[in-house]
Amino acid sequence: MATRILTGIKPTGQLTLGNYIGVLKHLKEETNRGECFYFIADLHALTMPIDPEVLKQNTIDLACFYLASGIDPKKVTLFVQSSVSAHAELNAIMQNYLYMGELSRMTQFKDKSSKMKESAIGLGLFSYPVLMACDIVLYDANIIPVGEDQVQHVELTRDLVNRINNKYGNVLVMPKAEMRKVGARIMSLSDPTKKMSKSDPKGDIFLKDDLAVIRKKIMSAVTDSGSEVKYDIENKPGISNLLTIYAALKDISIEEAENQFKDSRYGDFKKAVADVVCDELGAFQKKYQEILESKAYVKVLEEGKEKASAIANQTLNRIKDAIGLLKV
Ligand code: ATP
Ligand code: MG
Repeated sequence: MATRILTGIKPTGQLTLGNYIGVLKHLKEETNRGECFYFIADLHALTMPIDPEVLKQNTIDLACFYLASGIDPKKVTLFVQSSVSAHAELNAIMQNYLYMGELSRMTQFKDKSSKMKESAIGLGLFSYPVLMACDIVLYDANIIPVGEDQVQHVELTRDLVNRINNKYGNVLVMPKAEMRKVGARIMSLSDPTKKMSKSDPKGDIFLKDDLAVIRKKIMSAVTDSGSEVKYDIENKPGISNLLTIYAALKDISIEEAENQFKDSRYGDFKKAVADVVCDELGAFQKKYQEILESKAYVKVLEEGKEKASAIANQTLNRIKDAIGLLKV
């Protein structure tokens, strides 16, 4: 079977170093493995309150960042989720095949809703994994590159695929989450026990930050007592997070990174981390700026919409037929 790779990012805020290391940095190499579908999950962004102008601006930004990752737009389908109506249509179908109990056990829902008043929690936040499952199955995607936090949602999609296939025959392709060995969960610099997240931006490094700001954030990152640069999530979460960032950007193992700094003080180690982050993001920011100014993303998203719609509509029809919706 053909390899189909699909991944999405929500335009909920400024992209972070977590998004970069977890997903963006690897998008180009994925294009050598199979057919790639990358999208901007703007419908998912509505699950938390967001200003319309901010949402539009974030969407454009995200398109530019996707392109700045070095992907050849001819080799991938890059699209905006809401521009392909099959996502919302399939959502209306699939919400009947995922259940309240399993949805209420999702960590992301528990995390995000725990910070909100019950009267302000939208149904969409609860049913988020239903739409995410639709995003995946519409493209017959089998490989889903994600950070660790999204693995649970892909697992739920697998349950859904089993459920549908057992009931209606082999209608859907089974997807699999794929995480990076190093960097699947980058933590906040101010609280290294919390994930770096764009919608909860405490201790984040933003991809658009000035390099001087990035350097300052890293130099003042929370570290741990002791003086040894050692990977120890329990006792040294701050240093472990910085080691992960360094190793992920250098494309080396954590052990190799530890070895490089075994005789270093925290200050020298942090400086080396700041250097590697600034080198990588400096080049990335230049590409982003060029794409933003040239508006190269407009045509790419238009073409992406056409390519994605054609495939998604085919799958949608296949599913409608299997479950008994009459084609008229
Ligand atoms: P939000 O706070 O709105 O949920 P987010 O920063 O978690 O934003 P998403 O749009 O939810 O970003 O996720 C986009 C992709 O980035 C997903 O594959 C997700 O797993 C990955 N990702 C998000 N945060 C991190 C992180 N801290 N480390 C590694 N990968 C991450
Ligand atoms: Mg998230």
